[in-house]
Amino acid sequence: MKDFFSQYLSDPRWLIYDKGWNPYLQTVSETQLALGNGYIGSRGILEEIPPGCEPGTFFSGLYDKIAAQVAELVNAPNPINFKVIASGEKLDVGAMNIVSHKRTLDLRQGLLARQTVYANARKERFDYQSIRFFSLHNKHIAVMQVYLTPLDAPADLTIENLVETATTNKGLVTEGRKKHFHVTEILKKGNINYLCVKTLEKEILVAYASNVFAQTNNKNRWVPYRTFYLNLKKGETACITKFFSFYTSREVNPKRIKAQTIQTLRKTTRKGFKKLLDEHCKTWVNKWKTADIQIEGDANVERTLRFNTYHLLISSNDEDNDASIGARGLIGEGYRGHIFWDTEIFILPFFIYTNPRIARNLLLYRHRRLNMARKIAAGRGYQGAMFPWESADSGEECTPPWYRDSDGVVREVLTGQQEHHITADIAYGVCHYFTVTNDWDFMLKYGLEIMIETARFWASRVEYNKKKKRYDINRVIGPDEFHDDVNNNAYTNALAQWNLIMARKIHRILERKSPATVKKLMKKINLSAEEMEKWPKIAGKIYMPIPKRTGIIEQFEGFFKKKKLRRLERDDNFIPIVPNSITFQDNIYRTQFIKQADVVMLSYLLEDILNAKQKKKNYLYYEKRTLHQSSLSPSMHSIVGSAVGERKKAYRYFLTAAYTDLKNIYGNTAEGIHTATLGGTWQAVINGFAGLGIKKKVLSFNPKLPAHWDKINFSIKWRGFNLSVNVGQDKIKLYFASERKKDWLPVEIYGTRQRISANKSMVFCKKSGLKKYYPPETKGGN
Ligand code: BGC
Repeated sequence: MKDFFSQYLSDPRWLIYDKGWNPYLQTVSETQLALGNGYIGSRGILEEIPPGCEPGTFFSGLYDKIAAQVAELVNAPNPINFKVIASGEKLDVGAMNIVSHKRTLDLRQGLLARQTVYANARKERFDYQSIRFFSLHNKHIAVMQVYLTPLDAPADLTIENLVETATTNKGLVTEGRKKHFHVTEILKKGNINYLCVKTLEKEILVAYASNVFAQTNNKNRWVPYRTFYLNLKKGETACITKFFSFYTSREVNPKRIKAQTIQTLRKTTRKGFKKLLDEHCKTWVNKWKTADIQIEGDANVERTLRFNTYHLLISSNDEDNDASIGARGLIGEGYRGHIFWDTEIFILPFFIYTNPRIARNLLLYRHRRLNMARKIAAGRGYQGAMFPWESADSGEECTPPWYRDSDGVVREVLTGQQEHHITADIAYGVCHYFTVTNDWDFMLKYGLEIMIETARFWASRVEYNKKKKRYDINRVIGPDEFHDDVNNNAYTNALAQWNLIMARKIHRILERKSPATVKKLMKKINLSAEEMEKWPKIAGKIYMPIPKRTGIIEQFEGFFKKKKLRRLERDDNFIPIVPNSITFQDNIYRTQFIKQADVVMLSYLLEDILNAKQKKKNYLYYEKRTLHQSSLSPSMHSIVGSAVGERKKAYRYFLTAAYTDLKNIYGNTAEGIHTATLGGTWQAVINGFAGLGIKKKVLSFNPKLPAHWDKINFSIKWRGFNLSVNVGQDKIKLYFASERKKDWLPVEIYGTRQRISANKSMVFCKKSGLKKYYPPETKGGN
């Protein structure tokens, strides 16, 4: 049997396979095998839409609220809909006998290929093969090609290929299924089918155009009909190619949308399948140049990291600064497509170091919603800007006020009211971006304003405690969401403190660089020098619960008095098994069990808050108490584990993070990919094992490679340079190119300050007393 598509696929180090048909894992593999380009995301569904299939087509930034508690990412009409009825039986994995079935996701080129051999009731076999891609070269087009061959007998085929408008949002919580759009136009123009729908609340148009080309032994033709017929002889193959184009009125004038969609399709089709495929694949390969991590010594982990990176890449769009990345990406309805601190703390670093333009866009998304954040602060009686815990298109607080829990009970959600640390997390993301990129333009136009308004928020959010002569931050939820309504959560307090100090510092730095611009901004936002002077003073008095005697930070006031329970057994994924006697809603808050990294996160983000000994003590103390009930937790325990010398644990937690979605560890991959975990996994490799950090604004490396890894090879962008890095067990090699031969960079390696010069590979050996030498070659891996 001929395999039509393997000629296009990369080598197996870049391939993810889904072999055999398992209806119970259908929706999980739809997430894992999803395609996208950051503008559109499409679940990896089977084209025939078998029973239980959950089609999902999402456009970045396209939210709607009608009939829902809060705005949610719209599940738009599904263009991947292709049904074949062969001599009266539908080719469907859910209905027919399957002789073999395999799907392959090519991570390097963003292609999804499939081969299924069916057998009908008369035991006649039928070969079905397909490939599809959502172009990265032109984000408004997609292409699908299908090869059909009856193997044992002639077949009469009926083929249906509509853009399916029956899609709905699932209604994950209490509202039930809802449709966020209605059809406004269906049209056949020559060979082209056109469909336009309009969202209900904001009336945004989403337009699709498609056409289909069918080739058989004796006939090649356009088939302008939604349903068409073919007669195939035994062994004869039909090749059907479907081209799509799509736009929304978010980026195109509604009056022009029809013409634009049809015109793009015409141009696209003229190029033909091969050329479009080629353009798409080349763009992907190029994208990987800065994003790939090679692990010499562990091919499985390397492929898993590629799977993770692939999903980060399909979630992000370098052309849109009015949308961000949701907690479940652009391929599922989990968390309704909302944006959390996941973006700035977990995901952003990957983009800062590999594609700063996307990082900038993610921060601009926040800046564009600064006015709404000001409104939120004012509405709650605070000053400055308070960012919402969950954000969608408008920047309003989008956390649903209630949800239906697994036990069927409807419960109030307090995070939207109390999880305030997000405001400081966004400021943290701004500074991180600036330190790595030196993007003064961004800082002057947008970053400084965010820093100032967030500092203003904290200055008004703290409460002076006269008795204890300190500032408290009361009634919050820290990263550990098991304990709500607590006072003085250490993470929140420390980041608020940092925010106040950094805003003042950054203001000074920028004032020196561009006094006129800063003055203008101060005038615009009515900021006086006196107001700013107060910030470091307030910061100095914010309560930080670090008892001198033990050095262990109290996660929040009263945490040490909570019930201490025995250490729990762990499951195969190293996640503690929670006994039935502990219920998340009713009694867990009385215990010292915590949901996810909290103090441990703090010790990673604000490194200097604890010395090395204290850091280890805190890690060991909290690690015992952490249940990792959020997928955000293991990667942080891996990074800090690496830093404090708990290397076995660091590796174990890394595996949990890295395989979260490939193994469906949290049981909810069907709802979308865990984007924070993807970003956290990247940090666990780069910041944890490769030991990359920033010490006094200088790039530093202090690697702790897992024992069986030979080398980690990757590249990062640092202050406009492209640095290629090879980290071995006891050697680091660095290289960067520059047209200015005299360029050099300071770096800190194994704790010692060094210089690296442009256009020279430089190797630093750990054992030979940091001797550096210049190998004869100037580039490439060591
Ligand atoms: C976690 C949060 C996270 C959210 C979205 C929750 O379960 O506790 O930290 O922001 O999921 O990923």
